[in-house]
Amino acid sequence: MNNKRIVVLGGGESGVGAAILAKVKGFDVFLSDMGTIATHYKEALDQYEIEWEEGHHTEQLILNATEVVKSPGIPPTAPLIRKLVELGTPVISEIEFAGRYTDAKMVCITGSNGKTTTTLLTYHILKNAGLNVGLAGNVGKSLAWQVATVKHDVYVIELSSFQLENMYDFKADVAVIMNITPDHMDRYDYQMQNYVKAKFRIINNLTSEDALIYWQDDPVITEQLKHVTTQARLFPFSEEHEGSETAAWVDDDNLLVFNTPTEHLNMPRADLALSGLHNLFNSMAAGLSACLMNVRKEDIRRSLSDFEGVEHRLEFVAEIDSVRYINDSKATNVNSCWYALESMPDTKSTVLILGGKDKGNDYSEIEPLVSQRVKAIVAMGKDNSKIMEFFNGKVPVLVSTSSLEEAVAECRRAAAPGDTVLLSPCCASFDLFKSYEDRGTQFKNVVKALK
Ligand code: ADP
Repeated sequence: MNNKRIVVLGGGESGVGAAILAKVKGFDVFLSDMGTIATHYKEALDQYEIEWEEGHHTEQLILNATEVVKSPGIPPTAPLIRKLVELGTPVISEIEFAGRYTDAKMVCITGSNGKTTTTLLTYHILKNAGLNVGLAGNVGKSLAWQVATVKHDVYVIELSSFQLENMYDFKADVAVIMNITPDHMDRYDYQMQNYVKAKFRIINNLTSEDALIYWQDDPVITEQLKHVTTQARLFPFSEEHEGSETAAWVDDDNLLVFNTPTEHLNMPRADLALSGLHNLFNSMAAGLSACLMNVRKEDIRRSLSDFEGVEHRLEFVAEIDSVRYINDSKATNVNSCWYALESMPDTKSTVLILGGKDKGNDYSEIEPLVSQRVKAIVAMGKDNSKIMEFFNGKVPVLVSTSSLEEAVAECRRAAAPGDTVLLSPCCASFDLFKSYEDRGTQFKNVVKALK
């Protein structure tokens, strides 16, 4: 038995994974969750004979930790975390902990939007190319759990800014920053720079052997790059070729080109499985990651064109009375809604459902697209006042609703044949729903019941 005591705070996927890994590595382990732990996680903890508690934090069992692994959902300002920091106890993330026990290659993906899509697409390419690859982070099984129980040569990991906050020595082999636009401002004292810094932790410890892939036209990323130093090789992608450093772009013949020191390939943009400008960027980032993992050209082309898309991201639901219904419930910030609107027809034919728990939104970013493409906004939430005030007089129809059924009924009334009803709410779901998945699933059910 190792005489270090690891305390894990939070009994979700990452916490339980970290506890299992700590146990397997011979530490004294304790897991504590303020809320309720799901039954299957309790069973896993019991199976590994890990002590746990739920519904409260017992300080004397926690403050004696040598090291604490914190769930990304617990803010650094939580009183218990403050106490641990005052005591000088290291507080780390599950990814940081797991990274110590594997020498697998790490492809790590962050950004305000497009993380899950790019992560799943990258995983799809690597897996279909025959690599022994694991999927981790916000999607799939936690990294720690996999490190404890299976052996992979490569991991594709989706990292949120919350996860990055408590990472210190962890190193990616390929780091990807999709874009940085305001999100979670409530967690970052409404200071954009705090959020930018958290995202940029993904480049910590990169060596000259490692790679940083990023969107070349993102003003926030390019500005921040001027203020940090990194040894990493840079692979920016852009819609157009912008100087010799651009590593992926679309040429005049509408060919998507990837160009790295070891790989040059192209494919018709029209062959990409995922449509829309945002998905071009996601495909570029995934394709570049695959080039850097030495995947063969044919495998990259094939996988970029046969990927099946991800639920709740611009997901087609049904066509009813010649109106298309699209579920983009995962659009929980203003920028992702911008991209959803950008992929809608450029006529006033979209009925947009907005609303939920506001995270400090500034709707002016979508105002031009709304005035060009949106014929009606149906606000759906417990408190719609901000949306009603902002869009007052800016769209032909603006309605406030407080349930999904009511919102879908209003959309049906506002939509004419040929129109699209788009749920792309710009907000978190927690006012009326359990999660964005719950919101998207309920939306799909209500829409399908219209038939
Ligand atoms: P994340 O995991 O970062 O939240 P997702 O891949 O789940 O990103 O996509 C969330 C939403 O963001 C989607 O509904 C889509 O409308 C939008 N989106 C996807 N990719 C991008 C991108 N590269 N840039 C901007 N918006 C995007």
